Amino acid sequence: MVFDTAIIGSGPAGISAALNLKIHEKQFIWLGSKDLSDKITKAEKIMNYPGLKEISGMELNQAFSQQIDSMDIEITEHMVNSIMPFNGHFALMAGSEFYEAKTIILTTGVANQPLLQRESEMLGKGVSYCATCDGGLYRDKKIAVICSTARFEHEVKYLADLAEKVYFFPTYPGASKISDNVEKIAERPVSVEGQERVTGISLKNGEIISVDGVFCLRDSISLSTLLPGLELEEKHIKVNRKMETSVPGVYAAGDCTGRPYQYTKAVGEGNTAAHSVIEYLAENR
Ligand SMILES: Cc1cc2nc3c(=O)[nH]c(=O)nc-3n(C[C@H](O)[C@H](O)[C@H](O)COP(=O)(O)OP(=O)(O)OC[C@H]3O[C@@H](n4cnc5c(N)ncnc54)[C@H](O)[C@@H]3O)c2cc1C
Repeated sequence: MVFDTAIIGSGPAGISAALNLKIHEKQFIWLGSKDLSDKITKAEKIMNYPGLKEISGMELNQAFSQQIDSMDIEITEHMVNSIMPFNGHFALMAGSEFYEAKTIILTTGVANQPLLQRESEMLGKGVSYCATCDGGLYRDKKIAVICSTARFEHEVKYLADLAEKVYFFPTYPGASKISDNVEKIAERPVSVEGQERVTGISLKNGEIISVDGVFCLRDSISLSTLLPGLELEEKHIKVNRKMETSVPGVYAAGDCTGRPYQYTKAVGEGNTAAHSVIEYLAENR
């Protein structure tokens, strides 16, 4: 099936886009997390959301979830690893799944986590963003796994079941014990080592750990990796007032398009992106 659109990301911008597309009875797939966004739940007190006098992030998240459920909107729990033009529309890889859509709405937020040095250069040479896709290549090998959220611990477990040894670098507090062959490392990883293939990972204290692969399981993927050719302005996606990006048929909304990083900006842009998609679909039947 080719969806009318694919929404990537489940924060306020993605939520707003999904609500509007549902009201307009568009066929869409929404890829993100059923928990929505850490940037909603982590807010202690929100005082600038019109209509809600003072609300906690948890309460806002719950209100969003109830609205999504009441409108029978589904979130498919997958990180999208790459998007590419395909047969006049777009193909999306999400783990081992493949989806097709006529248009894309990017609502991926902004990445707070810095990339490792040489991470982009070694992508596909031992650096991977996808446990399901590439885990099998590291059966009985040694790997490093950098993990940004407890939500991905099941992927670390999956990798640990395949690999001989996992050096585990959680970037969040309170990471679980995964299994006996997983060694949790507190020191910060800084760079990927190797030329043709990954040979190790170097740490802030100067130590180098020998590994055959490095998995970066993060809440976000660099935009130029996600969709090569997308025009950026520093680290944000360049858009116009219709939320059109430099790639025809691809729209963006929310923090990923630039400051201010605010819920209502994200919600407004998500709304605009959805309406621009509806217009585009009507013009390109
Ligand atoms: C502690 C805190 C307090 C805040 N308080 C306020 C406040 O009081 N008022 C206010 O207006 N703003 C506040 N903000 C800012 C607000 O949270 C953000 O502006 C807002 O969440 C942006 O929404 P978004 O949809 O653009 O992105 P996000 O909320 O960041 O959501 C992006 C989502 O996309 C997902 N994603 C990313 N890449 C992919 C991919 N490749 N595939 C699938 N999913 C992907 C992420 O996992 C995430 O769930 C606060 C932020 C924080 C951190």
